Amino acid sequence: MYCRDPAVLARLSRRMRWYRKIVNVFPIFVLCGFAFGFISCGGHLCRKNLGVFDLLWVVPLVLAAFFLGLPAVILSGLFRNGRLKCPCCGEAFTGFWTLVVPKECASCGFSLVSEHRKGDF
Ligand SMILES: [Zn+2]
Repeated sequence: MYCRDPAVLARLSRRMRWYRKIVNVFPIFVLCGFAFGFISCGGHLCRKNLGVFDLLWVVPLVLAAFFLGLPAVILSGLFRNGRLKCPCCGEAFTGFWTLVVPKECASCGFSLVSEHRKGDF
């Protein structure tokens, strides 16, 4: 049973877009933190005090861990277990073995960005 009400689809898609952004942005944020850590530590890995440049990667990493980490892990689990359903078809939005949450539903092709299915006008 496909939902075709644009108001309902827009409301549910907006929420799913936010969930998708949180899940997909968190690994990029952490990887940037590790990259800055690798760059700033360079040749002296055992420094005790942090410099000004080190704050550029410590602050985003700590903020990501506290404010994005727990919701990202929970939402990623909900996506992978199929608890978060497609707003259009009601099936699981994505499969278990996905690295990032795609913008289109795995079963019906409904796009969270355009709020249409493939072939719909
Ligand atoms: Zn779907």
